[in-house]
Amino acid sequence: MIARRAIIIRLPKGKCDVNYITRLMALTNLAYRGFEVWVPDIPKNIQYQIYGFKNYMGSLVFGTTLKRWFAETWVPLKTLRVYGDGTRKGATDALVVLDFKKNVIKIYQVCKNEPGYSIEVPMPRWVVDRVKEGGDVRFAMIGLKDDEPYLALTAERVVEPHVPSGCRLVVDVNAWNNGVAYGIINPSNKIAEYSPLRPNLRLIDTWYYRAEDLHKRLGKLRRLGLDSTPEARRLAREVKALRRKVYAYLRDFAQKRAHELVMKALRLRAEVLIDDVIEESRRELIEEKIPSGLKKIYLAETRRFIKLFTTQLQWYDVPYRFERLPSTVCPICGHKLIQERGRVMACTNCGFKAPRDKVPIHWALKAMPKAKVSPLDESP
Ligand SMILES: [Zn+2]
Repeated sequence: MIARRAIIIRLPKGKCDVNYITRLMALTNLAYRGFEVWVPDIPKNIQYQIYGFKNYMGSLVFGTTLKRWFAETWVPLKTLRVYGDGTRKGATDALVVLDFKKNVIKIYQVCKNEPGYSIEVPMPRWVVDRVKEGGDVRFAMIGLKDDEPYLALTAERVVEPHVPSGCRLVVDVNAWNNGVAYGIINPSNKIAEYSPLRPNLRLIDTWYYRAEDLHKRLGKLRRLGLDSTPEARRLAREVKALRRKVYAYLRDFAQKRAHELVMKALRLRAEVLIDDVIEESRRELIEEKIPSGLKKIYLAETRRFIKLFTTQLQWYDVPYRFERLPSTVCPICGHKLIQERGRVMACTNCGFKAPRDKVPIHWALKAMPKAKVSPLDESP
């Protein structure tokens, strides 16, 4: 099986001609629609590459099927890889050269329509890591996103079959106020480990309320017609910076935790079960008495967490599936659970009791067809 992962790198806008890239994208779009238009003022080698890619349609772009009528079609390009030991792989006429000796990526002629024009960008760590894992970056694409030029790289890797050990890693994804809970079920169907992964909520709340506070002060100034004073401008900057900080923190948290969990699954040769309860979390959040801005923050990057997690699982060929693992229904008798103090869930019907984050793991024990062990039998 071939696994793929992609990354996009922002290119220096000053060194790129956005209009030229737009034209290349328009040509690519035409090529994908089946038209062949040769433009006299664009280098022939670029046009050859664009039409050469027609046969790859659906197999290449980001490892997924390209939307045929997508108006903004990125320009596919071949790459040449020059490795540290001097070996070369890829097309000699490639317009994108990944030089691992000098740790740079050179892009020829697609950033500006001038003969011999090239730009150089530093080699991202991501590429080096993928290559270390046995991956190869055979294709690149250039395109615009919100009018900014980007280079997209797609790494491919032939994955070895994953030999399952009988372990299961259960991952329950909620809004950040409850966080991501994971549990490990060992081959004898016992819970070996479980833990909630929660970002520093106090930090998020502090930043959020400070931004809100400053925003209110800014509002007052605006109503007084003082919105272009240095004071108002400073406030606006500070609000923006604080909000950015919250999202950057969550993005980083999601990325790190997703990676850690993938590594854990790989080490254990586990099968992964994911409960993606974001919709339920959203509904639960609506009922809670917290400001709507904060609700939005608690949901931010949760989708991305799942996306990052599953792409990486695919990359390492770890089997995974989505499974509904409720945390408010008793895994023994199906009765509704009530929440006691300290986030402990209890069943008034059969006496089952467990921390809220652990209930989904109990459900995962049950979700296995061969599971006969009662979840209460688990050893500490
Ligand atoms: Zn029960």
